[in-house]
Amino acid sequence: MFVGHYGPALASKALAKSVPLWALFFAVQLVDVAWGLFIANGIEHVRIVPGFTQANALDLYDMPLTHSLPAAFAWAIGAGLVYAIWAPRQKAAGGLVIALAVLSHWFMDLLVHVPDLPLWPGGPEVGLGLWNHYPLALALEMAMLAGGFALYLRVTEAKGVIGRIWPWIFMALLVAAEQVNHTMPLPDSLVEAGYTAAATFLLITGLAAICDLTRRPRG
Ligand SMILES: [Zn+2]
Repeated sequence: MFVGHYGPALASKALAKSVPLWALFFAVQLVDVAWGLFIANGIEHVRIVPGFTQANALDLYDMPLTHSLPAAFAWAIGAGLVYAIWAPRQKAAGGLVIALAVLSHWFMDLLVHVPDLPLWPGGPEVGLGLWNHYPLALALEMAMLAGGFALYLRVTEAKGVIGRIWPWIFMALLVAAEQVNHTMPLPDSLVEAGYTAAATFLLITGLAAICDLTRRPRG
């Protein structure tokens, strides 16, 4: 799953108004940022198999450190603790919301991945396989994104004209990114693919920060 992960990030603003959107955007893709870096450096492994699923060509046969269920909890707890220390004024609530955002990644992935998510490293692998029904997977991603966006608009307000326009441009860019991701040619190397994935998630985190600068929680 790609942009659908941002639905829970946007919706989380309703749970914790003081947690910046960029932190939530980073949190929901944290394990995929790590996955990109691990793939590029040979720590986790993927095979490019054209037509492997209807949605993409990724045979994700080895990713115990980022996409096993215990790993998802470990990343979530770690990120929640780091955030709570970094933003002490938000007390435990901020850290808890960040932890839940990180954890949401695995459960959202569960819907679309074919069985490649280990219940524990070396254990049985699960995945409900919507990637083999790409129109359904795409509809799910768009519904998650749209639902989160609607909630985000309800709980925040624009500080000025840019704050009114930017969220819509940002969402259009995310929808376009989903399309590019689905249609772009297969990568030349896994190093390139891994770094491109990690950089894309960081760029999107930066674009989310513009929302933080131009909008505020609705009083
Ligand atoms: Zn993932």
